[in-house]
Amino acid sequence: MKKRNTVLILGIASIAVLVSVQVYIIIGIWKQQNELFSVRYTNRSREAFDYIRSSYSTDGFDTVRFLLNDFSAKAYQSIKSAPTPEEFSNTRQYIFNYFRNVVDKEQDLSGLLSSYFSMRGMASNFRYRIVVNNLELIGTDTLVIFRSENFINRRPGERRRMQPSSEISSSEVFINFFRMEGDHYRMMIDFYIDFSDKQKYILKETAATLGLSTASILLVGIMFLVTFRNLREEKRLSNLKTDFINNMTHELKTPLATITVAGKTLELPVVRANDEKILETAKMIGKQSVHLNQLINMILEISMWERTQFQLDKKKVDIEEFLSDVVSTFKAGGGNGASISQKYSLRGTQADIDVVYFTTLLNNLLSNAVKYSVKEPVISIEGEADEGRIAISISDNGIGISKVDQKHIFDKFYRASTGNIHKFKGLGLGLYYVRKIAEAHGGDVSVSSRPGKGSTFTITIPRC
Ligand code: ADP
Repeated sequence: MKKRNTVLILGIASIAVLVSVQVYIIIGIWKQQNELFSVRYTNRSREAFDYIRSSYSTDGFDTVRFLLNDFSAKAYQSIKSAPTPEEFSNTRQYIFNYFRNVVDKEQDLSGLLSSYFSMRGMASNFRYRIVVNNLELIGTDTLVIFRSENFINRRPGERRRMQPSSEISSSEVFINFFRMEGDHYRMMIDFYIDFSDKQKYILKETAATLGLSTASILLVGIMFLVTFRNLREEKRLSNLKTDFINNMTHELKTPLATITVAGKTLELPVVRANDEKILETAKMIGKQSVHLNQLINMILEISMWERTQFQLDKKKVDIEEFLSDVVSTFKAGGGNGASISQKYSLRGTQADIDVVYFTTLLNNLLSNAVKYSVKEPVISIEGEADEGRIAISISDNGIGISKVDQKHIFDKFYRASTGNIHKFKGLGLGLYYVRKIAEAHGGDVSVSSRPGKGSTFTITIPRC
């Protein structure tokens, strides 16, 4: 039990480690792909701008430049003539909004970029965002209308100027910053492109790794389950074998002890002088030897079946006659006071059976019906046949068998009453023997039972 729990804990722990490692790797790959995407798309987008400029001799901002040039001269005048600080601040806000709107609405990049992206076979689903970072109006002096925090921070270092000046979303890439100048203004803008298919694209790139990881986790899980089930099965079999050895020792010791005691009794002069006592003791020795012999034969026979096929010596018999004979012999052999009733509707049905084996099969079922009973045993045997098969059932009013045990009682060595092993003696071989013999005759055996009420075993074999 301890070993099984350790295996279970170890197995679950290693699967957990494996899953964590895989998740870690996948996150790493995802991040890598993410960065790769950004680098690739940033470069391509920059190339797009160069391409547009050289091929169409425009950067898409011609209208913007024209409008702003016109507006900036007037804007400078109006802010200069602002009478109050409040008016100054309002005018400044208005000018900034105007610039921002013109830059946003009047540039002409959408179509140009789109055609370049599709030409290069890139994700064509995109939106762009333009952020104004710095705006100055120039007249007799320079007036700073707006200056973003990031712009101030990045100003001194040329290299840092390539960094985005505002927060970017996960699917967005920072393309570049631009400087735009007119007669009366100077402006810096950042350009971002949002590729909404980015996640889809990365998923496609990582799909193979994801699939392999999932498959390897599944495989390890399945391997673990199979190993664990095998271990459990091995443990069950080893328990069964231990129980069997204990039971067998017990079963063999009882007749041996009786024979030993009987031998010692025969040595006593009082007994030797009494013919009747000698005969009684000799009969007892004989009976116990037969029992011992039967036990040994059964064990030997079963171990032989493991290696060789059944050798049946079949002959045609009238099944009703055969059943009546077996039952009579069982009764005569002391059916332990069981009341046995028989009901056959077989009308001369014949079957091809090995009489010796089939007798053992029936005797096993009958003696179990007697053995597993706590009150006076009432047994009923029924037989019926249809065109192809004969069904023989043996019902008792014994202790019954639980649903769980019903699944296993035909297995070798299995005993339902393991906890109470010496109350009902046995080796757990009787029903295994029954199943083997029934199957060797082309038939099978089944059980239906209710604990506390009784059991019915049904043998089905082909008829002639
Ligand atoms: P054994 O009787 O030697 O234990 P068997 O193979 O004949 O082995 O039976 C297997 C188990 O099935 C028994 O241990 C017993 O628990 C259960 N069993 C068999 N026959 C009956 C019956 N007629 N009524 C109740 N339990 C039974």
